[in-house]
Amino acid sequence: MNFLPLLEHKRDGGAHSPAQIADIVTACVAGDIPDYQISAWLMAIYFRGLDADETRALTLAMRDSGATLEFPDDPRPLVDKHSTGGVGDKVSLPLAPLLATLGCRVPMISGRGLGLTGGTLDKLESIPGFRTDWTPAEIVAKTQAVGCCMAGQTRAMVPADRLLYALRDVTATVPSIPLITASILSKKLAESLDALVLDVKWGRAAFMQTREDAERLATSISDLGSACGTPTQAFLSDMNVPLGHSAGNWLEVVESVECLEGGGPEDLRALVVECAARLLEMTKLAPDLESAQARAGAALDDGRARAKWDEMLVSQGADLAAFEAKLRAPSALPSGGPGAPKTGVVTRCDARVIAEVTRDLGGGRQNKDSVLNLEVGIADLKKLDERVEFGEPLCCVYAENYAAVHRAIEQLEGAFEVE
Ligand code: URA
Repeated sequence: MNFLPLLEHKRDGGAHSPAQIADIVTACVAGDIPDYQISAWLMAIYFRGLDADETRALTLAMRDSGATLEFPDDPRPLVDKHSTGGVGDKVSLPLAPLLATLGCRVPMISGRGLGLTGGTLDKLESIPGFRTDWTPAEIVAKTQAVGCCMAGQTRAMVPADRLLYALRDVTATVPSIPLITASILSKKLAESLDALVLDVKWGRAAFMQTREDAERLATSISDLGSACGTPTQAFLSDMNVPLGHSAGNWLEVVESVECLEGGGPEDLRALVVECAARLLEMTKLAPDLESAQARAGAALDDGRARAKWDEMLVSQGADLAAFEAKLRAPSALPSGGPGAPKTGVVTRCDARVIAEVTRDLGGGRQNKDSVLNLEVGIADLKKLDERVEFGEPLCCVYAENYAAVHRAIEQLEGAFEVE
């Protein structure tokens, strides 16, 4: 393929035909276009954009670059949720088993954390024995048997996204609405879903720093997903403050289990119930949002969601006894936290600083090759409007050693305000 004229065309603000986009994606995956030309094309798209037809063509070409999940006929609808990534965002963990108890099938393919955002796979891998590296056929079989499967993106699925995302990540071309739309939707469309909800984060610790940009991304994804045959609803949520009271892989699993047992932080439960209720309503498993919310809340409160979680753990190789023992054991890591500077009410808890501290403790990636410590992180976070006494810890840092605890406490200076 002679890629140069196409590259010049996009650089000068021209549009590609769907056939040209399909050819470009095929050539990229076949290794027929060198990385430097693909990177230049991505940068041209970053500045010039893609119109609706081009974005649709790119999404479909990326979806069709590899295997898709093929499910047998079954009255249970296929649903999933995607979040653009947030600090302390562990919604997927309780949501997948909850939806399975409510009559859905959830083939949830998730990613790892990069930069500030936490990754569902990293959290799950803090569970003793839990595996996420399943083939498409295994994902289908586990979803059919249990109702849900939480897996990593397989080599066979959407290889075009793996290649393009890796280049975007190192060429400053991630924050482009058409490229994000195609990247997220190509993977979700490959799951053959009946309904998808998308939680688009905005704020200090989100991809989209402003509400307006988040709204544009939400509209782009929900319009295109629905036009491609997967009814898609997107809603916005605030990522200026972390979700729940903990950030860090294992610590977030603990909080997810609290939610699955009917407890846990209110903001986490509200978001889990919101996602579940939207999907129940979209798939007509509930007549309206109100009754859907009531059904979702009841399944968290009466132990059904927790029982399904255990079933999912066993199906994915976890050692349930070791998991329960780990849940009950207090953390063996050195810990400590910053004290409130005065008695009053918390008026600031900066998600960005919390994310940076968690990453620097070893709980997040500095680059793709970073090896994580899945146990470290921050728990017991005081959040907006909570009352604190002078000197009371504003959070509890778990680190590999006391020097790291003290460094984190210094970094957390300024993350909180008490008035
Ligand atoms: N998540 C994705 O999967 N792709 C993007 O481009 C951004 C966030």
